[in-house]
Amino acid sequence: MILILKKEITEEQKNHILSVLSGEGYLAREASDGGRSLIGAVGKPAQDLDHFKRLPGVAEVIPVSSSFKLASRKMHPEDTTVNVGDVVIGGERIVVIAGPCAVESREQALTIAREVGKYGAVLFRGGAFKPRTSPYSFQGLGEDGLKILAEVRDELGLGIVTEITSLAQADMMMKYVDVVQVGARNMQNFELLKCVGRMGKPVLLKRGLSATIEEWLMSAEYILSEGNDHVVLCERGIRTFEPYTRNTLDLSAIPVIKNLTHLPVIIDPSHATGMREKVSPMARAAIAAGADGLMIEVHHDPDKAFSDGPQSLYPKQFGQLMRDIYVIAPVIGKQLDFGYLDKAKAVKLTSEARGDGVRRAAFLGELGTFSHKACTQYFGTEVSAVPMSSFKQIFEAVKGGEVDFGVVPLENSLTGSIHENYDHLLEYDLRIIGEITVRIMHNLIAHSGTRVENIKRVFSHPQVFQQCRQFLEQHQEWELVSARDTATAVRRIKEKGIATDAAIAGKVAAEIHGMEVIQEGIEANPRNYTRFVVVSKEPLENGPHRRSSLIYSAGNQPGALYETLQIFAENGINLVKLESRPIHGKPWEYMFYVDLEADIESPDLKPVLDELKKKTDYLRVLGSY
Ligand code: PEP
Ligand code: MN
Repeated sequence: MILILKKEITEEQKNHILSVLSGEGYLAREASDGGRSLIGAVGKPAQDLDHFKRLPGVAEVIPVSSSFKLASRKMHPEDTTVNVGDVVIGGERIVVIAGPCAVESREQALTIAREVGKYGAVLFRGGAFKPRTSPYSFQGLGEDGLKILAEVRDELGLGIVTEITSLAQADMMMKYVDVVQVGARNMQNFELLKCVGRMGKPVLLKRGLSATIEEWLMSAEYILSEGNDHVVLCERGIRTFEPYTRNTLDLSAIPVIKNLTHLPVIIDPSHATGMREKVSPMARAAIAAGADGLMIEVHHDPDKAFSDGPQSLYPKQFGQLMRDIYVIAPVIGKQLDFGYLDKAKAVKLTSEARGDGVRRAAFLGELGTFSHKACTQYFGTEVSAVPMSSFKQIFEAVKGGEVDFGVVPLENSLTGSIHENYDHLLEYDLRIIGEITVRIMHNLIAHSGTRVENIKRVFSHPQVFQQCRQFLEQHQEWELVSARDTATAVRRIKEKGIATDAAIAGKVAAEIHGMEVIQEGIEANPRNYTRFVVVSKEPLENGPHRRSSLIYSAGNQPGALYETLQIFAENGINLVKLESRPIHGKPWEYMFYVDLEADIESPDLKPVLDELKKKTDYLRVLGSY
């Protein structure tokens, strides 16, 4: 059962409730749901609900009849995130685990780890104990394999995921690995589930070959009920009558799981399909369907792999898949972050330099705006997001060291460049250390129970009304009220408490203010994206350096711009953006902002930069990121 607590409950009353529950043999867990505090009580069937309802501080008691309780979303309405070092599984960033089926040698593991790390995998997989169908197949290197995996982590900084097949391996796993995988064949090995529950390390729980979703969640319940909440579910295909693929990937499990449980879910398309050429299409589909991540088998020489060669991607194919995912993720409000681990490391260094341990990133507007989403999505929850009231204030705060980073929009796919920020980039001597593209999806948000036909007044930013024009034209009787930003609009209707008011904003604003989305995606053009850049005083050490941004002015003579662009063309450097801004005080002279697909500060490209210097009056590298 779930006990919903009164808002004004005292600490004493809560402790009393917890002691009553434990005295009666329940396992009690505290949780929260959009501002409400709850206590989940499991371990035995709830009998006299009224008895608990009468306890001081309890507002309501809800029986939970499902066989999985701790895993149930009813018990824990917010998404659970599982941390593995700097990696967070279940947040807005897609987590990709990659590596060979089995560790075969030190050389093989390191070679593959370098490749997958280069392309953006953040955790390394590889079996040291292989549960093979035939006893004559390669069984894994055992503890020697685990030692190799630990070496990979030490050398490359990738956390390790590997399978545990027996209770006897628990101590070894504790010593060498970061995530223990319970394989499909062991999903109902209840002693093993209890053991990994007690180990307390993050667990990757694969779905059994013929397990229903409910059976799978009950297996997760075994782990949770030992006090280990760090469980990630992994769908890897189930047995059906279809022999063409090794298994049948149950993609519909993703939305089902998301509804039933708060635990993150990732997809393993390698074991699901068993065929290399089917892996990438299924991986792309999985991300589109809402998976929190992927686990992919990759081998540099799959023909010689000891196991699962035919389903292992070549590193280059894996790289291409990652690029695809990079493009797909923003469509569903997520991100594949190529600089994930480097960024985490660099952000930590920043905090050490500051001394107080708190890292701050400034954004424009209130909590719940798209700028806020860009900020939290880019940094995760490690960095505290600081709202500011103007772009200039953000640049000033970064310059003055009041915050470590600033997140500012540079362009919107529908409305074009945000010129003010281009001018600030020139004025302030800051570095661009990263970029993030956020899809702008507008929703009609109102009080719970309000229906579209009851609405009389709608609050939002004037530009948002423009972007939702077609939808609003169907409701011409609505009064449109301007607000400073989308999140302010939601806050205002919440504060006013009028049932016929609505706001247009992103989902996060609705979540923050406990309001309801009554219609999703009401913007006229679904290809509405805003690209933000992250600025800082110092460059990021060891960042991914895939792109660079420059500012320069070319002379005021014919062909001057052309001559600079020719340098990029002749050196095979792809130009992805060219923007010009008038130079203040010099009428008809322009500053050019150029984005390139290259690390312009790398030693290889020094001659290119030198040549560019000769052809420009002013040149500054804003950053490589
Ligand atoms: C594996 O991931 O290496 C593996 C054996 O997977 P599964 O348990 O899904 O067959
Ligand atoms: Mn395998």
